[in-house]
Amino acid sequence: MSDLNEKIEGIKLSYREIFMDAAEEIEKRIEALRPKDFEGDLTAVYPVGSEGKLWQNAVLDMFENDISKEVVRKLAQIKAYRNCGQFGCKGCATCCNLACSEFSPEELKEKAKNGDNFANQFLSVFVPYNSREEAYKIYPEYLDLLRKKTDEKVYFYHCPKLDENNRCSDYENRPQICRDFPDNPFCILPKSCGYYDWREEIQPVALLMHSFVEIMEFYKNKISKGE
Ligand code: SF4
Ligand code: SF4
Repeated sequence: MSDLNEKIEGIKLSYREIFMDAAEEIEKRIEALRPKDFEGDLTAVYPVGSEGKLWQNAVLDMFENDISKEVVRKLAQIKAYRNCGQFGCKGCATCCNLACSEFSPEELKEKAKNGDNFANQFLSVFVPYNSREEAYKIYPEYLDLLRKKTDEKVYFYHCPKLDENNRCSDYENRPQICRDFPDNPFCILPKSCGYYDWREEIQPVALLMHSFVEIMEFYKNKISKGE
């Protein structure tokens, strides 16, 4: 198994464990709000003003004013930590040389036309590779992994502003998506990236926050459907 493959399997495993812990934590908080001696199910349908309805409202309120705010706070801390000065771009140029998207250039153009800001910025920077082989040379381990893991089409892009020394020829005017990269704690980064250690450190917290959001969505859907 390649290093990258092992790493991703490790992340999946920790995500499962973290998800179970988060589910347990949320269940505890839900149970703490249960009205005394009330035995109904949280996701049943209850009439307005009933104990069950009051419980559901208290749970939704706890999601909104307690856990969601904690998630927003933690994500802001993760972002601030990225910019604390301990991490920074080392100029390896991998992210300029290889950007992946599930969307083809035509699909991105369509999205940009419909007002999608990210698609718009992405297209202002990147152009598609002529072939997968060209992209393969940049980060072979990643492309091997993609080939094994997914049948979905992935499109590869690069930035023509990189000069022959692998430096940005328009650094002062680089767009926001370049300045913000990497802003996603779940993105795959090469070890050469100066933000690699940042992503390693914050990933457990980011996974926990992601679990909280998923679990809250699950309960919210169930409660609104009255299942
Ligand atoms: S504009 Fe500069 S920083 Fe942004 S992707 Fe292109 S070369 Fe990299
Ligand atoms: S992959 Fe990381 S270190 Fe390399 S150019 Fe991009 S941000 Fe900089």
